[in-house]
Amino acid sequence: MKRIVRAPAKLNLGLDAPFVHPDGSIEWRMVMTSIGLSDHIQIETKSSHSAIRIFSDSSFLPNDRRNLAYQAARLFFDKVGFKVGLEISIEKNIPVAAGLGGGSSDAAAVLRALNEMFETGLSFEELAQIGVQVDSDVPYCVYSRTALVSGRGEIVTPLTKLPKMWFVLAKPHVSVSTPKILKQLATTSVSHPPIDELLAGIENQDYDRIVANIGNSLEEITTAGHPQIKTLKSRLIEYGADGSQMSGSGPTVFGICRTESRARRVYNSISGFCNEAYISQPECDSHPVI
Ligand code: ATP
Repeated sequence: MKRIVRAPAKLNLGLDAPFVHPDGSIEWRMVMTSIGLSDHIQIETKSSHSAIRIFSDSSFLPNDRRNLAYQAARLFFDKVGFKVGLEISIEKNIPVAAGLGGGSSDAAAVLRALNEMFETGLSFEELAQIGVQVDSDVPYCVYSRTALVSGRGEIVTPLTKLPKMWFVLAKPHVSVSTPKILKQLATTSVSHPPIDELLAGIENQDYDRIVANIGNSLEEITTAGHPQIKTLKSRLIEYGADGSQMSGSGPTVFGICRTESRARRVYNSISGFCNEAYISQPECDSHPVI
């Protein structure tokens, strides 16, 4: 049996961390969306062995049990009570450790694909419960559509589709450690973006209200160590984006544009300044299979 699936990158339009639980885990309130920029994952069953083997075209990825796709497959087999040999090949297009949830999306794509391949009939809620053991972004990625995410990441409430818009992404050449950034949340006072206003903007399909209410509590922490992020945000606005923000724990920033022509102009300008730039639209298809 063989499947090829697409694993889309995610953006955080709104990211609030209202508090840190006594066990150190974070309470989230996030508005997330998925975009066209995607990894491609081939999953093939093997009768010649019973291992889970990972292959990828990226030298930045671990090809062993540290790979989030591996962890997802192993937890899936634990849940369903059987195990078969698998080869998972990842074509990596989403920048790694960029705040775009690439690893989580790969893991979620594997969960969805295995559930379909073996006709195990697990609901999205059940796949999300497996996924949260891998990373707090995996439950969202199981749905891969615009959603409000709360709890420790496991409560996903799908929202109506976004109105037409384009994103221009720019990844500065810096490395950010997500665990280090999240650790600082417990001791740093951060601002809280207006998530309810953002939700109202989406509900009313009001582009201007959405753009006016994007926000990310982690931005102050990450930019303190990496001022380039602020510069890139300002450039995106200067080049014509209506709003700009960092995604996740960074360092990728995105600009929002209402039209494709404006987005292309912003993309062309930012490309001259940052050599990792992308242009993308919100993902419409919630379970992309190639
Ligand atoms: P986060 O969801 O924590 O914000 P991110 O989007 O910033 O993560 P990822 O690209 O998911 O970053 O990578 C985070 C880490 O996970 C990296 O150190 C990477 O080596 C590891 N990793 C394991 N498996 C994968 C995978 N399939 N794709 C990407 N990274 C992976």
